[in-house]
Amino acid sequence: MALIVHKYGGTSMGSPERIRNVAKRVAKWARAGHQMIVVPSAMSGETNRLLGLAKELSPEMVTPSMLRELDMIASTGEQVSVGLLSLALQAEGMEAVSYAGWQVPIRTDSSFTKARIESIDDSRVRADLAAGKVVVITGFQGVDADGNISTLGRGGSDTSAVAVAAALKAEECLIYTDVDGVYTTDPRIVAEARRLHTISFEEMLEMASLGSKVLQIRSVEFAGKYRVPLRVLSSFTPWDIDIDEEAESGTLITFEEDEKMEQAVVSGIAFNRDEAKISLLGVPDKPGIAFHILGPVAEANIDVDVIIQNVSHDGRTDFSFTVHRNDYQRTMDLLKSAVLPTTGGAELTGDPKICKVSIVGIGMRSHVGVASKMFRALAEEGINIQMISTSEIKTSVVIDEKYMELAVRTLHKAFDLEQTGS
Ligand code: ADP
Ligand code: ASP
Ligand code: MG
Repeated sequence: MALIVHKYGGTSMGSPERIRNVAKRVAKWARAGHQMIVVPSAMSGETNRLLGLAKELSPEMVTPSMLRELDMIASTGEQVSVGLLSLALQAEGMEAVSYAGWQVPIRTDSSFTKARIESIDDSRVRADLAAGKVVVITGFQGVDADGNISTLGRGGSDTSAVAVAAALKAEECLIYTDVDGVYTTDPRIVAEARRLHTISFEEMLEMASLGSKVLQIRSVEFAGKYRVPLRVLSSFTPWDIDIDEEAESGTLITFEEDEKMEQAVVSGIAFNRDEAKISLLGVPDKPGIAFHILGPVAEANIDVDVIIQNVSHDGRTDFSFTVHRNDYQRTMDLLKSAVLPTTGGAELTGDPKICKVSIVGIGMRSHVGVASKMFRALAEEGINIQMISTSEIKTSVVIDEKYMELAVRTLHKAFDLEQTGS
């Protein structure tokens, strides 16, 4: 008998029929002798609907008090889900109880819309489990020290599930979703994408941070920090498939680099269309210029991703960086007012229609020529690279958004990913 956490995403919870299926699957696990905690998301489309309603009343959500209300609204989708799932479990003959984040409580900081989990009180949940109940806990939401409801950012139910698994020292956290595992790239973009049987924790961390939305990045960080065994699998298999077969299906995030993984130089391709590029052309090339430009951006709490500074001509240089697309206009306005007047005639330009495409693989550590192979493949398709950024196990390029799908497909082929899934 083990303590297991299941997480079900929005599509998996998308209708009463699907919720009934989730309940049957969970009941199967409970009847096999496991203690079960289930963390569902809001029904598909619900969080968008709620955020849309809020936007109708308040198009610009910037102040902390607005963001507080946004979380109050967005968190309700998950509250409906836990109640429905608990009812469905009871209809299956299980004893089940649902909790909102504040009832557990799952404590977070007060960064509304992107709160971080600080602690989870396990006493109530443990008592229920000991009494033989299935415990259903809201994904995505928590409560801050002042009792305000907070949410963990889009896709945050993954993080709720892993954090609950870590707090209760669960044997495994199973993330049930609408694909049957982690693929070499998003299977909705590349039909030939292959499911990976295993992916290393480090690679998963890069894939998630570079835009693969199959797992929220913070859930992977949590899994790494607390060594939570994590598996991504399908909620669309028949609920009554053999439990041992189900337990081995999908993709396991592993903490050991085994030999099999070493073979693939590139394991996956991630992409992200949420970024925008900003350039300052003809800024004076002198010590402190990067700080002069990016200091005010950092002070405004805007995250900067890729940065490049060109070689200078006649004492002047071009400086470019990317920010989240939601922060694009704010950053442009900020530079116009706080930076341009003191950069001696520099010109400000921006492009919100860019995307970032990345290749990821721990094999890149021990192989040379991987980046150049990437650049050649893109050049052969006539795709212009605007920016490049590399780390030990990834290379990212910023390109025009209209070439995104072509670039992902081209790279998937160039690195033989149809054939080499681990
Ligand atoms: P859920 O609602 O279950 O949390 P998400 O939509 O957040 O589901 O995540 C699952 C989706 O992630 C898939 O439908 C798929 O389109 C997308 N995805 C992106 N990259 C990958 C990848 N490398 N492997 C699998 N799925 C991916
Ligand atoms: N319902 C939230 C969202 O749509 C959280 C999640 O699905 O993980 O972002
Ligand atoms: Mg998700």
